[in-house]
Amino acid sequence: MRWLAGVDIGNSTTEVCIAQVDEQGHLRFISSGMASTTGTKGTIDNVVGIMTALTKALHLCNKSISTLDIILLNKAAPVIGDTAMETITETIITESSMIGHNPSTPGGMGLGIGIVIPFSSLSICEKDQPYIVVIPKEVSYEEAAQGLNQAMLQFEIVAAIMQKDEGVLVYNRLHKKIPIVDEVKYIEKIPYQMLGVVEVAPVGKMIQTLSNPYGIASIFQLNSEETRRMIPVAKSLVGNRSAVVIRTPKGGVEERIIPAGTLQIQTSLGKRTVQIDEGALEIMKQIQESERILDIQGEVGTHIGGMLSQIKTEMALLTEQPIEEVKIKDLFATDTFLPVRVQGGLGGETYMEKGVGIAAMVKTQQLPMDRIAKALAEKTGIEVKVEGVEGVMASLGALTTPGTELPLAILDLGGGSTDAALLDVEGKVSVTHLAGAGDLITMLIDAELGLENRQICERIKRNPLAKVESLFHIRMENGEIQFFSSPLSPKLFGQVVLVEGNELHPLHTHWSMEKIALTRQEIKKKVFVQNILRGLQKIAPEGNLKKIPNVVLVGGSALDFEVPEMILEALAPYRIVAGRGQIRHIEGPRNAVATGLILSYVSEHKLKLS
Ligand code: ADP
Ligand code: MG
Repeated sequence: MRWLAGVDIGNSTTEVCIAQVDEQGHLRFISSGMASTTGTKGTIDNVVGIMTALTKALHLCNKSISTLDIILLNKAAPVIGDTAMETITETIITESSMIGHNPSTPGGMGLGIGIVIPFSSLSICEKDQPYIVVIPKEVSYEEAAQGLNQAMLQFEIVAAIMQKDEGVLVYNRLHKKIPIVDEVKYIEKIPYQMLGVVEVAPVGKMIQTLSNPYGIASIFQLNSEETRRMIPVAKSLVGNRSAVVIRTPKGGVEERIIPAGTLQIQTSLGKRTVQIDEGALEIMKQIQESERILDIQGEVGTHIGGMLSQIKTEMALLTEQPIEEVKIKDLFATDTFLPVRVQGGLGGETYMEKGVGIAAMVKTQQLPMDRIAKALAEKTGIEVKVEGVEGVMASLGALTTPGTELPLAILDLGGGSTDAALLDVEGKVSVTHLAGAGDLITMLIDAELGLENRQICERIKRNPLAKVESLFHIRMENGEIQFFSSPLSPKLFGQVVLVEGNELHPLHTHWSMEKIALTRQEIKKKVFVQNILRGLQKIAPEGNLKKIPNVVLVGGSALDFEVPEMILEALAPYRIVAGRGQIRHIEGPRNAVATGLILSYVSEHKLKLS
């Protein structure tokens, strides 16, 4: 009896598979396991992750590492993916100060237009002049109400801006009702003696006037050029329950276009150049039309230059290779809009800037797998062999999915790259690696929702959303209603939540459930549908997708709850059957390469065994 382990080191995950071969050469798969890849793929640091995954898998059958006779490592493809993201335009607002936010309980409603003054100068107001009063946190709501009531007897007070969350308390004590915006953090930045506007929408509604450039224009009597400059102000206030805009005299709104730069694609047939601001569609067209890409560079001194050299520098460091040897072999670009903090805003307002998200596939020298093998052998005292090529092994493993036949295409949807392979009837395999996969999706979700939290975005990617509509029911993003027999935590009430198995996790976000779901789905489609079409075109006989009868999806991103359906839909016009892999009937889309390693080793060595 011989015990074998197959080990697949990926960019994100290390997967292992344990099998037994008896004296007759019968192969039996025993268990499997996985762990996060430790360190960069192809470096000695991987040994830790390999040991963890092996220990886990062997523990399942009450064995330890010493049981093994041989460990098979895959000849990992020397490709590593990385992502970067930049805005193309930058807007700086200096003409007007604005505060736009959604305090949960502003006071009153309506529009108040007047000169902005501090609470402390209420006594020196002038008659026949409307005022907006700014109330800092040092003033209690009782003092504030009293002061305003007093002042209102003589002067025209049309609105108030408060620092504390006491808008309603003040409002309730006023003899004459005015709109009050509260919870204004940076109250000290508000300029005084300028004309300002306060708008509070009725409960459940959004502001109408300040979110409309013409609304702002009519209040401040702006000409058409000045109105055009108000567009970013208005846009960043859209969807708010309350807002303040104050006209400050100096400066102007600048919309600075940062030179996005050009991309140079070096191919075996010469050089192609494309402007980044021509958009992702044009970039991808150029990439698509390039025969054998040797390297891709970005113009020095521009955003794209910075992004690509950052990727190369990182890869050079991680793989301990000179930067000149790190070549970008594929690139995936996508247009996005990123919420960027508006410079000149008073409440941390954001504005959607046009941006570009990029994933690059870097090819390094052959990965030093032998070094890992040696370290692993030393650590375990077990023979370690570097066997089969990743794509070939993945195809062999994928073929254990019930209902598949040759020719079989597999799409390995990983973290850093989307790999496509075609195994034909003669056993020949063609493989391609493309930039852009699961990690790009997480990055884009993070960027487009402006969350600045990768962990949460990873969970947003993996789980459906719901809205907690009462303490006894939630509305799922697909419209289904789910009821509960015992009440949910009051903390969840009204929240958009992630449905993670039986648990509800509140997101505490101002985005609606619909907006988050749509953003998530659009990003997944943008990345995976485009990439699988690119991949299949590269491996299909004569580039003809119709010659591929079935496609098996493997890899971590094939576990996604909606990606396989999107792919099936996209491939339907080519009459391709596509679905999530079911490796060895039990592993789902995981473990294809580890399984393939064992299958290939055993079939190659069968002759010797009998
Ligand atoms: P690699 O082969 O590069 O190591 P994997 O096959 O482990 O990569 O895939 C990693 C990717 O799979 C990550 O981007 C991760 O976010 C994604 N992933 C893992 N589980 C899920 C899931 N349940 N739903 C969606 N994506 C997932
Ligand atoms: Mg993989």
